Amino acid sequence: MRPAVLYSLFAPITSVTGIGEKYAKSYQNLGIAKVADLLWHLPVGIIDRSNKTTVAEAKNGEIATLHLEVDDIVLPRSRRSPTRVVCHDETGNIVLVFFKVFKGFLEKYLPIGAKRIVSGRVDFANYGMQMAHPDYIVANESEMPLFETVYPLTAGISLKMMEKSVKGALAMLKPLPEWLDTEFKKKQGFPDWIDAVNLVHNPKTMADINSANPARRRLAYDELLSGQLALALLRAKKKKLSGYEIKGDGKIRRKVFASLPFKLTDAQVRVLKEIGTDMARSSPMYRLIQGDVGSGKTVIAFFALLNAVECGLQGAFMVPTEILARQHYNKLKPLADMAGVNICLLTGKDKPSQKKDNLGAIKDGTMDIVIGTHSLIQEGVVFNRLGLAVIDEQHRFGVHQRLDLKAKGAAPDMLVMTATPIPRTLALTLYGDMDISVVDEKPKGRAPVKTVALPLSKLDEVILAIKRAVATGTKIYWICPLVEESEALDIAAAKQRFKELSALFPKQVGLVHGKMDAAEKDKVMAEFADGNSPLSILVATTVVEVGVDVPIASVMVIEHAERFGLAQLHQLRGRIGRGSKESSCVLMYGENLTTSAKARLDIMRKTDDGFEIAEEDLRLRGFGEVLGTKQSGFPEFKLANMATDLDLIHTAAKDAQMIVETNPSLKGDRGEALRVLLYLFEQDKNVKLMRG
Ligand code: ADP
Ligand code: MG
Repeated sequence: MRPAVLYSLFAPITSVTGIGEKYAKSYQNLGIAKVADLLWHLPVGIIDRSNKTTVAEAKNGEIATLHLEVDDIVLPRSRRSPTRVVCHDETGNIVLVFFKVFKGFLEKYLPIGAKRIVSGRVDFANYGMQMAHPDYIVANESEMPLFETVYPLTAGISLKMMEKSVKGALAMLKPLPEWLDTEFKKKQGFPDWIDAVNLVHNPKTMADINSANPARRRLAYDELLSGQLALALLRAKKKKLSGYEIKGDGKIRRKVFASLPFKLTDAQVRVLKEIGTDMARSSPMYRLIQGDVGSGKTVIAFFALLNAVECGLQGAFMVPTEILARQHYNKLKPLADMAGVNICLLTGKDKPSQKKDNLGAIKDGTMDIVIGTHSLIQEGVVFNRLGLAVIDEQHRFGVHQRLDLKAKGAAPDMLVMTATPIPRTLALTLYGDMDISVVDEKPKGRAPVKTVALPLSKLDEVILAIKRAVATGTKIYWICPLVEESEALDIAAAKQRFKELSALFPKQVGLVHGKMDAAEKDKVMAEFADGNSPLSILVATTVVEVGVDVPIASVMVIEHAERFGLAQLHQLRGRIGRGSKESSCVLMYGENLTTSAKARLDIMRKTDDGFEIAEEDLRLRGFGEVLGTKQSGFPEFKLANMATDLDLIHTAAKDAQMIVETNPSLKGDRGEALRVLLYLFEQDKNVKLMRG
C-alpha cells in the first residue's frame, strides 16, 4: 500500500492551484497526470534576460532585452494581417508584430512616445528586424524576471502556465524521510530530497541545468536506486521459489557430444558449467547468455535442453523468425534422432494435421524438445512438464512474450540468449534480475571477414568479382536495400535484383523474403546451404538478419549499406565468416552519404568485434535509440540520464544489494524510507510488469 506521505504527490494535477480539467488534458500530451509527474518534468534551459543588448547587436533567433521608444502603430489592413508597432533605440529600428490584438492593449502598454523595456525573440524579416509577440513589455526592469526556466511544452501549455503549475506543485511539497545512506549522501554533496526538487526547478545558471548538478544527480540516484532495489528484492524472492532440480546423468549429452563435428570452445564449456550449476538448484534459473554472432550459442542451448530431457522434463526453444526455427530444427533433428530424443517444430505455417499431432505429444509429454516461433506461446500449446525454456535473439521479443513462455511451465528454468553485447553497466539496469554468462571466444580457425566499402556506381565491378567467386564454388549472400519502412517495397527491390542477377547467372540465383510461403523458403535455404547445389547467390531481404547459419557462404554484398544501422550491419555480416574459408563483405553505398552513415561504414571496415561496434553504436545514437525501450522491457528513466549518470548505476546496484542482504524486509527507519522510495517511483508496478 502506498505510504500516506505520498498521497499528495500521487493526486491528479487538478489538485494544483490553477490547473483545471482543460489544462489537465493538455498536460496529458506531456505524460503529466499526477503532481509527481509535474515535478519530474525537468527544465531544459534558462532564459537569461539580464543581458541587455541593442537593436544593432541583437542576434537573429535569440532572446533579446531591448530598451525601446515607441514611434508608431500601424493598424492591419485586413483581419488576417498583424498590427505593427514601430520602435527604435539609439542603434536602429525594430518592429513589434502582433496578431489579433486589441487597440486598448496597445494604448495601455505601448502608447506612442513611451519608453519600454521589451524582451523576446528577435527575427530578421525582409524589411528589417522584428519581434513577434514579445514575452515582456514593461516600463520598469523590476517588473520582469531576469531568469526564466524553460520547460518542454505542448499545445495549450505556455511557459508561464508551466512555471505557475510547477510552482504550485512545489508549494505542496512536504519533506520525505531520508532513504539515502548518510555517509554516501554527505560524500556526494547531495541535498535533501525536498531541497533537490526545489533546486532543479529554480536554476540560476546553465550549470544548474547540467546533469552534473548535485540536485539533479540526487534525483537521478533516487530513481536508479529504486530500480536496482526493486530488482534486488525480486532476485531475492526468486531464489526462494522452488522449481525442478535439473541434474541429468549426462547419458544423452555424451552421445550428442561424441557425434559433434567439433570440440566445444573453452568459453562454451565454461558457460555450460554455469548453466549446469544454476539448473541443479531448486530455485529457477534466470540466465542471460551474451555472445557475439557466430560464437556458438545454439549448441549451448541444445546441451542445456538435453540436460532437462535427461531428467524426464521438456524443453522449449523459442526464436524470432520462421527461417531460424527451421534452421535450428534441421540442424538439431539428426542429433536428437541419434540420441533417441523427440524433437518437433512449431511455427505459424504448420500443416493442421501435423500441428495437431505435435500439440498432442507436447501435452502428453512424449515430445521432449519443441523448437518454434511465437507460435510456442499460443493458448493451444500445453506442456506436460516444462523444465527449461530458451529464448534465442531475446531482444526481438517483448517482455510479455518472455513471460508468456515462462508461464507454460510451473517454474521452469529460463535461458535467454542475445548477440547484442551490452556494456556491463547497462546490463545491470536491463537485466539486473538475471545472471549473465558471456561467450567471449569464437570457435578456432575462423578466418576474419574482410570488409570493403564501395559506391554503388561500381556495381559492374562487383558483379565481375562475383562471377569469379561463383566459378570457384563460393556461396554469396546478396542483401537488398531497406526501402523506407515498408516490407513490400523491400521485397519489390529484392525481386528486381533477383531478376537482374538471374539473367546474368542462370539457375544459380535464389530469393528469400518475408512474404514467401514456408516450404518455398525452406527449399531455397536448403539449396543455398547445400554445397552440391548450383544455387550460389542468395538474394535476400533482412529476413536473414538474425541467426541464419550457412557456414559455406563466404561472401556478402549489402546494397545501400548506408541505410542500415550498425547493429543490423553487424548481424548481417555475422552470417559469413562462419567457416574456415576467408570471407569478404562488400558494403555498397549510394550517393550523398551523411556523416553518420560514413561513420557507420568506417566502423564496419575497421572492426568485426561486436562489443566495439555496440559501443560505437551507443556513442553515435545514444542509449534510448539503441535499446529501443519497448522491445527490451527497459524501464524508461524520468530523471536519470543514461549518458551521464552511468557511474551512479553501479553504486545504486551495490547499495541495493547491501540493503537486501542486511535488511531484506525493509525494517526500521531506513527500511520505511526505502519503501517510500519504491512507491515514489512506482516500482510496485514495474516489478510486476518486468518479470513477474
Ligand atoms: P550464434 O552464437 O551466432 O548463434 P551459432 O550457434 O549459429 O552461433 O554457431 C555458429 C556456427 O559455429 C555454427 O555453424 C555452429 O555449428 C558452429 N560452431 C559452434 N560451436 C563450435 C565450435 N566449438 N567449433 C567449431 N564450430 C562451432
Ligand atoms: Mg544464433
